[in-house]
Formats: sequence, C-alpha cells, structure tokens
Amino acid sequence: MTTERTLSIIKPDAVKKNVLGQILKRFEDAGLRVVALKKVYLNEQTAGEFYAEHKERPFFGELVGFMTSGPCYPLVLEGAGAILKNRELMGATNPTKAEPGTIRHDFALPCTDLSANAVHGSDSPESAKREIGFFFSAAELA
Ligand code: UDP
Ligand code: MG
Repeated sequence: MTTERTLSIIKPDAVKKNVLGQILKRFEDAGLRVVALKKVYLNEQTAGEFYAEHKERPFFGELVGFMTSGPCYPLVLEGAGAILKNRELMGATNPTKAEPGTIRHDFALPCTDLSANAVHGSDSPESAKREIGFFFSAAELA
C-alpha cells in the first residue's frame, strides 16, 4: 500500500474533554505516525475557508461557530493507506451511528450537536493535500 499523508483535526469538543492524548494513541496504535501537530484557534474566516466545500449546507454556520468555540489541534498523519485508515479509525460522521471502538463512538458520545464529533479527517488525496497545506508549511512537514 502507498505511504500517504492525511490531515486530522482534534476538534474543540475532544480538547475540552481532555482526550487529546487518547486520540493520538489510537493513531499510533494503528501504525500511523504523527509527523506534525499544532494548537490552533480558528476564527470565522479561517474556519469558513477550511470548510468552504460545505458553505451552502444548512449546518455550515453552526459548524463554523463550533470550530471557533475553543482551540483545536490539526495534525498530519503518515502511513500506509493513511487517508482511508484514518477515516476507519474515526467512524461515521454521526457519532450515534459510529461503531464501538471508533474515535467518534468512544469520544463524541453522548452527542447532541453533529458539529461536535471529536475529529476531522481528509476524505481523499486531493483534500488531504489542500488541508495539510492549509495548516502546515513545508518546513513544518520536513
Ligand atoms: N456536519 C454537521 N451536520 C451534518 C453533516 C456534517 O454538523 O448534517 C458536520 C460534522 O461535524 C462533520 C462536518 O460537518 O464532521 C463535515 O461534514 P462531512 O460530511 O465532511 O463529514 P466528515 O468528513 O467530517 O465525516
Ligand atoms: Mg468531510
């Protein structure tokens, strides 16, 4: 399998729950390597730009509001088939539908707000490239 890089974000709800380390361990235990990590305070402009693909969706405003509600931790994961592997580790977008053992099931329940689902993960090589470049410079990725 090809070695890939993908972008994950530990979202503000997971940071508030103090499970940053437990989520990072999930990635490491699955054979993914954290090659870059930082703490970020998104604002309306940066969160809106990051989620631009969802601009017309009804949940966009709520999602931006949530992502600006506290610090988050974007990180770059590297490993064989990292993009799909990360999506599998995350589980379904809706934590109530995520399988036990996935990050969203284990760290985002109970869930009343779909924005607060613990993690983001790139969904394709194209989005991984854009999203990694959104948060990290070449020097930070070396
Ligand atoms: N989201 C939401 N309501 C929805 C669908 C998505 O609040 O009906 C939020 C949710 O936090 C999700 C994010 O918008 O993680 C991006 O949506 P996407 O469909 O890309 O889901 P993901 O790739 O994060 O699983
Ligand atoms: Mg997505």
